[in-house]
Amino acid sequence: MDIFSNHIFIFFASFALFYIYHCLGITLGYHRLLSHRSLVVPKWMEYFIVSGGYLAFEGSPIFWVSTHRLHHRFSDSKGDPHSPLDGLWHAFIAWMWNPKVIISLEESQKQAPDLYRDPIYRFLHCRHSIWDGYLCLLIGVLFRVALFLSCGIWILLGNLAATALAFCGPLLVNSISHLRQFGYETYPCGDNSRNVWFVAALSMGEGWHNNHHAFPQSARHGLKTTEFYFTWLTICLLEKLKIAHSIRLAKPDNKVNLKKDAEPAGKR
Ligand SMILES: [Zn+2]
Ligand SMILES: [Zn+2]
Repeated sequence: MDIFSNHIFIFFASFALFYIYHCLGITLGYHRLLSHRSLVVPKWMEYFIVSGGYLAFEGSPIFWVSTHRLHHRFSDSKGDPHSPLDGLWHAFIAWMWNPKVIISLEESQKQAPDLYRDPIYRFLHCRHSIWDGYLCLLIGVLFRVALFLSCGIWILLGNLAATALAFCGPLLVNSISHLRQFGYETYPCGDNSRNVWFVAALSMGEGWHNNHHAFPQSARHGLKTTEFYFTWLTICLLEKLKIAHSIRLAKPDNKVNLKKDAEPAGKR
């Protein structure tokens, strides 16, 4: 019984730590730091945070950021890579292997010129070939083999459960948080983005998605006191530790971002 409860403890501790690592890798790394440049951290810290998203099978940062910037530009209209208007399953996950929007090399370079300037992100993107997905898969599997050999099965199982949950976060944001049947809209901004509490709870705050579409560059998504946001607390902690700076926030007099006003890709 003691051994069993010990294993359960190790599983949940591993799950909690890896969930924070992988989820923040997506919300703070891929989304806040790379896609919207909502804050600045030292390069070593940026790579560490982004590694959490990469090892959660999010694909190459250039792929993710190009797709996401296009999503903001064409949200819920022709050109949006993953809108529920093309079907809920498509918006959830099918857009990855059956895309309605093919992003060419030229488009990708236009959307993410800042990331193309970084040799590591360029390397992970494999010259815009399908190998970027296979490379991400391979490195993710090797990471888990190393984890199993060095730490054992219970830590690996905790990691796998955390990875699965973290992976679902952005999928739910792309689908549920763009369905008018769920949540609420605080800022009409010309698309179907919604604030959905249970998506926010699962994804460390990303579910306050209507706020995010209204103020895409803001590092903080939860704007009311009831809109809790773990990622924002992490950003506050990084700022207190003098690791994060130049944090961009929505101000009360900021104009709500409308789709047609979308900031040109890669421009700050
Ligand atoms: Zn969206
Ligand atoms: Zn965004």
